[in-house]
Amino acid sequence: MRYEPTLVFAKAQDTADPLGRYRNTFSFPKLGTPEMAYFSGHSLGLQPKTVRAAVELELDEWAKYGVEGHFHSTNPWYSYHENLTPPMAGIVGARETEVVCMNSLTTNIHLLFVSFYRPTPDRYKIISEAKMFPSDRYLLETQARFHGFDPDDAIVEIEPRDGEWTIRHEDILKAIEANADQLALVFFGGVNYFTGQLFDMPALTAAAHSVGAVAGFDLAHAAGNVPLELHDWDVDFAAWCSYKYLNSGPGNVGAIFVHERHGSNFDLPRFGGWWGHDKSQRFKMESGFKPMHGAEGWQLSNVPILGMSAAKASLDIFAEVGMAALRKKSEVLTGYLEYTVDRLAHEFPDVGVSIITPRDPRQRGSQISINVAGRERQLFDDLVAEGVIADFREPCIIRIAPVPLYNTFEDVYTFGKVMRKLLAEGDKK
Ligand SMILES: *Cc1c(COP(=O)(O)O)cnc(C)c1O
Repeated sequence: MRYEPTLVFAKAQDTADPLGRYRNTFSFPKLGTPEMAYFSGHSLGLQPKTVRAAVELELDEWAKYGVEGHFHSTNPWYSYHENLTPPMAGIVGARETEVVCMNSLTTNIHLLFVSFYRPTPDRYKIISEAKMFPSDRYLLETQARFHGFDPDDAIVEIEPRDGEWTIRHEDILKAIEANADQLALVFFGGVNYFTGQLFDMPALTAAAHSVGAVAGFDLAHAAGNVPLELHDWDVDFAAWCSYKYLNSGPGNVGAIFVHERHGSNFDLPRFGGWWGHDKSQRFKMESGFKPMHGAEGWQLSNVPILGMSAAKASLDIFAEVGMAALRKKSEVLTGYLEYTVDRLAHEFPDVGVSIITPRDPRQRGSQISINVAGRERQLFDDLVAEGVIADFREPCIIRIAPVPLYNTFEDVYTFGKVMRKLLAEGDKK
């Protein structure tokens, strides 16, 4: 598409946008700022307007039925999580038996490591990306120690080359080769939270398998953002949260994927709880853990219905729209943001605005991370004061997510307009 830097152009794109009507199905913050352009869907997705009624229904049923709601409410709580499985499986390209919503993200990765990180004295290394989200780094570090290994030895972090921000796939593949005999696990973010780089998950999975290692992914920034085909890619396991691109509400329930190859392997070590136990026998309250087939066999506890009801309302929107339509708009809208930032870089050559996210749309999702060396903190605070809500990360990066479900071309235009004003003012200071 040929982009133009005008409000007329942006509005024309919005009018022609087949997903345009979804914007009004979300609540936008009102912060008393001159503008409101929300670009933080990578941190906390906005609230679908359908969430309130969905949560209220469960509050009403709890009031009305008490414990009887487990079986007699409109959506019986006993099997409530099953309602979330089909839309969630659709989002990540999985069979329904391969996915379940439960717990939260870091907890789930630890639980999956019980089954899929089985280090031996010879084969114990984990290859991951440098600058992984801190929770994942703490997780890897403590997992290595838990198994008696020195994290500095066990964790091989692949870094960008000197002077570069993103990681070259060839460097990851080389490290997998180099560590072939000692490698237990390749564990990457699907999309790196900092740079927005989308990794080639099928290639990493194939490379891990070719040396006898397991492949797992943290999809916090990928689920609901980029197309995923976890089953076909033969990924061993994955986990993600639902409150970023999936808009289910702060801290809400996470989800896991376990490939069907492993779902009925009851020899895999795992931690058990009653919700993962054979459903037909669950209330017999007997000892002898018999896990359910598939991802459900990793569940521990009965589920938080109020949160799940919000998540369900949001996932229903994804089921209606479909990832293909979202991806299509995401590419064009993210491209417009890239174009807008490039124009600013050109207009203010002395400021040094630059994009660190890959330029190739196949290597990114709905995120552009920009480096505004030296100016970013002040600029970021000023952006927020103007009502352009993005995200700042140390040391010098502003992360902007144009989310196809609710962001518009006009939002991107507004971002450009506000940035231009702030950069021009900064030049005068
Ligand atoms: C957001 C995010 C998390 C957050 O983990 P929680 O357990 O949900 O608090 C972890 N890892 C990555 C990569 C993330 O993007």
